[in-house]
Amino acid sequence: MDIFDKFSTLQSRTDLVNRLGVDPFGVKFDDITNATRGRIGNRSIVLAGTNNYLGLTFDPDCMDASINAIKNYGTGTTGSRIANGSYTGHVDLEDALAKHAGMASAIIFSTGYQTNLAAIATLAGPKDVLFIDADSHACIIDGCRLSAAPTIRFRHNSPSDLDKRLTRHNNSEGKIDGGIALVVIEGLYSMFGDRAPIAEFVDVCKKHGAYLYIDEAHSFGVFGSTGCGLAEEEGVLDQVDFISGTFSKSLASIGGFCLSKHKGFEITRKAMRAYMFTASPTPSNVAAARAALDKIAEKPELRDNLRDRGLQLHKGLTELGFDLCGPPGPIIAVRRPNEVVAATEWNWLLEEGVYVNLAVPPGTPQSSSLLRISLSAAHTKDDINIILKAFKDMQGQGEALMAKVQAVMATG
Ligand code: PMP
Repeated sequence: MDIFDKFSTLQSRTDLVNRLGVDPFGVKFDDITNATRGRIGNRSIVLAGTNNYLGLTFDPDCMDASINAIKNYGTGTTGSRIANGSYTGHVDLEDALAKHAGMASAIIFSTGYQTNLAAIATLAGPKDVLFIDADSHACIIDGCRLSAAPTIRFRHNSPSDLDKRLTRHNNSEGKIDGGIALVVIEGLYSMFGDRAPIAEFVDVCKKHGAYLYIDEAHSFGVFGSTGCGLAEEEGVLDQVDFISGTFSKSLASIGGFCLSKHKGFEITRKAMRAYMFTASPTPSNVAAARAALDKIAEKPELRDNLRDRGLQLHKGLTELGFDLCGPPGPIIAVRRPNEVVAATEWNWLLEEGVYVNLAVPPGTPQSSSLLRISLSAAHTKDDINIILKAFKDMQGQGEALMAKVQAVMATG
């Protein structure tokens, strides 16, 4: 018995996909030129799968802030805030995030993944019950696994199913016995780009006295009049108990945050293991996110441009006859018949100079195979036309691509 035997199915799937060309999960860029262009060899690539929603990774102010932070505070913090202390940048960013969203408390983490892991695992204790959307991101699921609370899944984006399950779990007084109910949803779902009906979830949570936690990783900076996300867009931000997010998308950095309207959230710093026992975000990451937050506040035109590009691409792909998984928005997922077809097409698009994401089971809802596009405010109309032309040409290659799929399958 070999220690890697248990990965044999994964290995065969990987081998099959690799026979189609470049490994879609190990693609290497030789250069990143700006927020929308990269280079592989001597090919310029339109980046359409980066989650760089506001295109701020190359914003001069964000870059300067990051460089200056290294000069002033060094390259790393070399420890956790509990053991080794906080830098002014950590505290300033937390204050700015809380103020921007009108929340009582903000805690930042080293990644968005750790944010949900830490917060969910800690906020729900053994007497509590977690209710999560069926299509939850891996880090929400992992947070639930780490939590001592039982986890109940409700149907994706279904407030009525949540209502039923909360009713079933509550005692005659309409409460969880001896504990609380914590409901976890996302604002914008990362694979299909569909949105949660947040206001309806708020109503169901209110009815049952449940706490509501929303991961706005893909919607913070993108939606809402001040960029606070979909809860703000739906006018219910002040009724949400916890908002989590990441610095790795609109905030052009790496790290994560959890905001709460409850001052009591502060005490959890001393209880969240994925906050206490890991190094704090680096000065440069924190400074870039802080500068990006200012851009989110000062430049609503970034959101307008992103929305317009989403409308343009959604319309164009729909006219070409593609089956799209969600409404127009920063994430547009094109449904493909299976993962081999999707991987073949993904390779073809890359050869044509367009990088999108290949998304396949188990990382996708409904076991779907997707060519997932994420847009940026930095994309121009012409960029979208390049993406559309590539998809149109890919359709024109239908038979040749299918022959390639069959040839690869036959050697499997
Ligand atoms: N939540 C959601 C919904 C995500 O899609 C992701 C990552 N894509 C995360 C959290 C984790 O964010 P990070 O990359 O900062 O770890």
